Formats: sequence, structure tokens, C-alpha cells
Amino acid sequence: MIQKLLIANRGEIALRILRACRELGIRTVAAYSEADRSLKHVALADESVCIGPAASPKSYLSPTAILSAAEITGADAIHPGYGFLSENADFAERVEACGFIFIGPRADSIRLMGDKVSAIQAMVKAGVPTVPGSGKPLIANDDENYAIAEHIGYPIIVKAAGGGGGRGMRVVHSKEELQTSIVLTQTEAGVAFNNPEVYMEKFLQTPRHIEVQVLADGQGNAVHLGERDCSMQRRHQKVVEEAPAPGITQAERDFIGAQCVNACLTMNYRGAGTFEFLYEKGQFYFIEMNTRIQVEHPVTEMVTGIDLVRTQIQIAAGIPLPFTQADITLRGHAIECRINAEDPSHNFMPSPGKITRAHVPGGIGTRWDSHIYGGYVVPPNYDSMIGKLIVHGDTRESAIARMQGGLSEMVIEGIKTNIGLQREIMMDEGFRKGGANIHYLEKKLGIH
Ligand code: ADP
Repeated sequence: MIQKLLIANRGEIALRILRACRELGIRTVAAYSEADRSLKHVALADESVCIGPAASPKSYLSPTAILSAAEITGADAIHPGYGFLSENADFAERVEACGFIFIGPRADSIRLMGDKVSAIQAMVKAGVPTVPGSGKPLIANDDENYAIAEHIGYPIIVKAAGGGGGRGMRVVHSKEELQTSIVLTQTEAGVAFNNPEVYMEKFLQTPRHIEVQVLADGQGNAVHLGERDCSMQRRHQKVVEEAPAPGITQAERDFIGAQCVNACLTMNYRGAGTFEFLYEKGQFYFIEMNTRIQVEHPVTEMVTGIDLVRTQIQIAAGIPLPFTQADITLRGHAIECRINAEDPSHNFMPSPGKITRAHVPGGIGTRWDSHIYGGYVVPPNYDSMIGKLIVHGDTRESAIARMQGGLSEMVIEGIKTNIGLQREIMMDEGFRKGGANIHYLEKKLGIH
């Protein structure tokens, strides 16, 4: 088993990992940047090491800084959390080459899924439904592009193979725009992702975002833990997530879950992972796989009762999955609201600064995953998410009511937050009905 684990991340996920380690009796090392000395998990960890300045390339994104910290503290494993180096195959490889355990998939799985074209090809091979598309990289100004687009039918979307964070995509409505859009996206992708490869797929007009959580031990066992609906988005960023997805039948869940499990077994996947789909008119279309723990993992934990971070660590330690598909049942409904330090009156611009007062909700079925406290200063250098309020109820209706209660108790002063927006969403008729598509929230906010 792992004796000492280095947490190579910050904020709420660093604290989440620390809590899992404590329960498992694993000692922890917090690797933090100069801007993060006052983070909660740094105070709680058994040891802590400053790994560099606030700028992430010199700290949380520096493999050398992190590996040195693991070396000098005698850690035997490294958890990358989400973001930063969590989906960097070269980093995963270096971690293992240096003799540490990487809490995540093998480097070759990360690499395969990190390139969206090779990911789609792997899914086609495993029988997972994908979006109709080129299925291969496009060549600039090739006449074949017209034929592919014609076959799929406009509108189509040109996407960067190496894209991420909702960037590197362009919707094309007609033949006239096609070749220029391909060249433009290739150029942008070359600069942004260091990989100019682009591909084409059908642009779905009113899809929902539905994703499937999996766990696989790389020893022949894989399970799915049902799905999450993350359709409430702003600028391709998830704002509210829930499990299960409203209206998805047990038959649909069994079908798509089995496809994902099969894909895991086909590529001998190891670790936690998420298959992301667009869902339209009763059909699932694979768009990408995330080879790490996700921000929204708690809603799945709440309905399955399975601790995903603990299981991730156990898998990395070589322990076979302690449950089978038959052991996994969904109970009730869970919702997560992301709480961000953002100014709603200024287009949700980040609003860093000192939190002068913080009161957070509690009570039955209520969970607050956050690193903040009264007096904490939100640094301007990182993501603006400061916490996640998660609730569980017997039904979706009771979960919404519980979330409304929680949000009404929540007080965060000194900085601006999106709590008001979350309260509005919980009261919104379209959200309450369930099944809104990915454009719903932006339409409501007047963004087109
Ligand atoms: P990223 O890795 O940047 O998150 P994704 O492939 O997951 O990229 O796509 C991000 C978002 O872009 C999706 O959630 C959806 O809103 C939109 N999108 C991507 N592909 C399509 C498509 N084929 N049709 C419609 N919208 C799409």
C-alpha cells in the first residue's frame, strides 16, 4: 500500500484528496505555490513543500518542481487532481520512471484519449457511438473536405485534435466557409495546443451534455457508476451538475454504461475516467474522454455511495476493484452547484480578494467541498471556483428544495460570487422541468 502521497494540486480538490488519504491512513505532502501558503490543506497535511512562485508554469505545471518535492519528502505516490498536469502523458510517464506511483491511468491511455482523433478511433473500434464526422485529421484545402461535409450535412464543427477547455472549435454553416475555417482552426490550434491537427463532425443543434463515470482496475475489472447531466453551461464551463440525468431510462443507462465498460476493457484502462457524450433525440454521441477525477465527481458519490477518490488511490496501489456492476445501485438524486468568485454584474469576471465573512450551509444530505474560510484571500492566479455545494435527496424535487435551502443559508462576503445566479437557476422553470440543453443557460442570460 501507499505510505505517503504528494498532492500536486490546490484548492478544494487538494483538500478532497487529503481527506481520502487520512481515511486510508496515508500520510500527505502538500505541494503548494507561493500564492497558496494559506490554503486549508497545507495546514492540515503532515508535511508541506513550497514548489515555486504563483505562476503555474513554475509550480503546479512544473514536473521538475513536483518530482523534486516528492523526492525530498520521500513520498511514494503523486495525485495530480484535475487540471494542471493531470492529463499530461509525459508527466505520468516521468512520475513512474522516477519510481513513484501515479494516481491515474497509464501514460499510453492518457495519450490515446488526449488526442481527440485517436480517442474517437478507439471508440469506434470499441463500439461506442460517436458523432458522424471525418474520423481522421483534415488536410488543408483538400477537395475531399467538401465531400465529407456534404456527407455529414451542414452545419458541421471543425475541432482541434488537441483542444481542451472549450477552445479550438469553429462551427461552419455552408460550403463557402469550409476551407477557410479549416485553415483558421489549424493555425489557431497550432499556436494554442502545439498541434495543428483538426477534424470535422456534425454540429448538433440542441444536445444535452451527459457523461458516464467509470472505474477500472487494469486487472480485467471495470464498472460504470451511471451518468451525470452537465448541460447547465456558460462559455462551455459547467455551472450545475446532477446525477442521474433527468429522463434517462434504466435501459439507456445500462446500454451506454456497458459500451463504456467495454471500451475500458478493450484498452485495458486503469483508474477513474469519464466518457463525455452529447445526447440528442434519444441518441448518445461520444465527444471525449477525461482520464482523471472530475470537478463534478461528488454527485456520483452521493447517489452510488462510492468514494471515487479513495477508489482511485486503491486502484493505483494495485488493489482490485472491491465491487462488481451488480453491487452498484443508484439511490435518489444529487445536484452540485459550483460556487465561483465571479462578478455577475461584470460578465462574470473573476473577483479575487479577501473573504471577510463566510457562513456555509449544512444539515442532512448537504455537502460543502471547499478550501475557503473567513479571512482567506482568493488569489488572482488560478481558476475562480471556490467551492462546490452538493446536495442529495430522495427525488430530484427534494434535492432542488434542499439546494435552495443551502444556497439561502450561504454567506460569502468581501468578494463577488455567482451564488445569486445559482439561486436563480434553482428557481428557473426550464431547469426545474429537467432535460434542458447545453445552450439553455446562455439563452437565459441573454448570451447568444
Ligand atoms: P473540450 O475538450 O474543449 O471541452 P469537447 O469536445 O468536450 O471540447 O466540447 C466542448 C463543448 O463544445 C461541448 O460540451 C459542446 O457544448 C460543444 N461541442 C463540441 N462538439 C460539438 C458538436 N459536434 N456539436 C455541438 N456542440 C459541440
